[in-house]
Amino acid sequence: MSKRDYYEILGVDRDSSEKDIKKAYRRVAMKFHPDRNPDDKEAEEKFKEASEAYEVLSDAQKRSAYDQYGHDAVSGNAGAGGFGGAGAGNFSDIFGDVFGDMFGGGGGGGRSRGPARGSDLRYNLDIDLEEAVKGTEVKIRVPTLVACEPCDGSGAKKGSSPVTCTTCGGVGQVRMQQGFFSVQQTCPNCRGKGKMISDPCSSCHGQGLIEETKTLSVKVPPGVDTGDRIRLTGEGEAGPDGGPPGDLFVQMNVREHKIFERDGKHLYCEVPISIIDAAMGGELEVPTLDGRVKLKIPAETQTGKLFRLRGKGVTPVRGGSTGDLLCRVTLETPVNLTKHQKELFKQLQESFEKEGNQSPRKNSWFEGVKNFFDDMKI
Ligand SMILES: [Zn+2]
Ligand SMILES: [Zn+2]
Repeated sequence: MSKRDYYEILGVDRDSSEKDIKKAYRRVAMKFHPDRNPDDKEAEEKFKEASEAYEVLSDAQKRSAYDQYGHDAVSGNAGAGGFGGAGAGNFSDIFGDVFGDMFGGGGGGGRSRGPARGSDLRYNLDIDLEEAVKGTEVKIRVPTLVACEPCDGSGAKKGSSPVTCTTCGGVGQVRMQQGFFSVQQTCPNCRGKGKMISDPCSSCHGQGLIEETKTLSVKVPPGVDTGDRIRLTGEGEAGPDGGPPGDLFVQMNVREHKIFERDGKHLYCEVPISIIDAAMGGELEVPTLDGRVKLKIPAETQTGKLFRLRGKGVTPVRGGSTGDLLCRVTLETPVNLTKHQKELFKQLQESFEKEGNQSPRKNSWFEGVKNFFDDMKI
């Protein structure tokens, strides 16, 4: 089904201001509102169409996506722009904006809301690399809202219970006549709850919730990395009016390590080696997360060379093969030379000069530089 242009639906120009769009929408929505056009399918469609157009054009980000890419960029199921989606039919949000509280929640339909769910909480947890790799259990203290014990979360003093609101009869909404609309409004007396507390609980002052610091044990599985989240279902804030609690999300952050650098499942470390080991080869002790291991390096090893220790990295938390440890050797120039050592180096130098093939890279590099200058002289 091809869609009409959103600007056309509202009867506005493409460069209309936010205010003009709002005004135009209000005009169209009032004309086709279901309350004014009972049992008129065509009007209902037009009303939905206008709501959808307004939802997009009233949001600067969505509007510019629509201007550039058309309907596909903003329709709920396209997912292209990442706008999650209230398509046509869900217009309570926009009404909240344009008409204030006039329609209550949800276009006059039946109320299906139970008590609201509590908020989700987020906790940032720092752990060491060793703990991240091997897994650990951490106790955390989380300030949260829990159901008040003396009143069992009801907010009413023990022995009493909340009474039905007399203004709305427990519905939480009242109907009012406003112009040609018959509109629903949140009950001003109970603020939509449908119940009143005549004798509030003294511990929570009628809120039903109290602040408490909970101590929780978090099982961190082996292999987690920075950015991973662990969900503790039901450990968020308690819901108001006895609603279900939210969840607690533990956001992992792996601290920097003194020796190892992590890249996904692989670990990297730098190993300084002496000029003697580099030239003659040797056996080094290198660290791994399971302790020291021996690493054989061949003669004539150049600085910067990577040695791979298979399976000494990290086993990913979501499964898969264990990563490797990559050791990068760096040549350390000897310092604090004694007179005798300097003498030995001098002898070595003389020998190098005589033989002439101990530094092929250096020789070819100088050859390249020489050619470069020779070419410039032309
Ligand atoms: Zn009420
Ligand atoms: Zn209480």
